[in-house]
Amino acid sequence: MQPQIDVWKRQTMNCPDCGGRRVLYTGEAIGDEGTVAVFWAFLYDHPGAPEVFIDATFGTWSIEGYTADHETFGARTGAVEGQSRPASTLVTGAEMAPDDPRFGVKLDRDRALTHPRLTEFWAVNDAILHIDKITRLLSGRPRRRRWLPRR
Ligand SMILES: [Zn+2]
Repeated sequence: MQPQIDVWKRQTMNCPDCGGRRVLYTGEAIGDEGTVAVFWAFLYDHPGAPEVFIDATFGTWSIEGYTADHETFGARTGAVEGQSRPASTLVTGAEMAPDDPRFGVKLDRDRALTHPRLTEFWAVNDAILHIDKITRLLSGRPRRRRWLPRR
């Protein structure tokens, strides 16, 4: 099942690594029965090494404030040594985020690997990576200069 992606917000913020900028997309992945996961996708446009970190929280989102069944997966997508194309690898979900009950259990790589919803997470991760601007960032094509200088 390929979920639909609904982006709620795109915001620019400071990059904690280099003081430059990073972009955060927030939104939800929607399946046949409603919200599958709420996600945070952080884009880092470091020269020659674009990366995307996606956190996706699964569980009940239809009841305000209910977080008892929430679980958060995380993945990093970017260059991988020895591969010509960017690849996704599991990291701890919402690892860099502050503690907040909405994340529920922050699944580390080992727990995520044996989790029954891992396939669903990869589908969500994939769908987010297909957001046009994210695809372009990872492909390394220039995004900022859309026009040539006039002479
Ligand atoms: Zn940076």
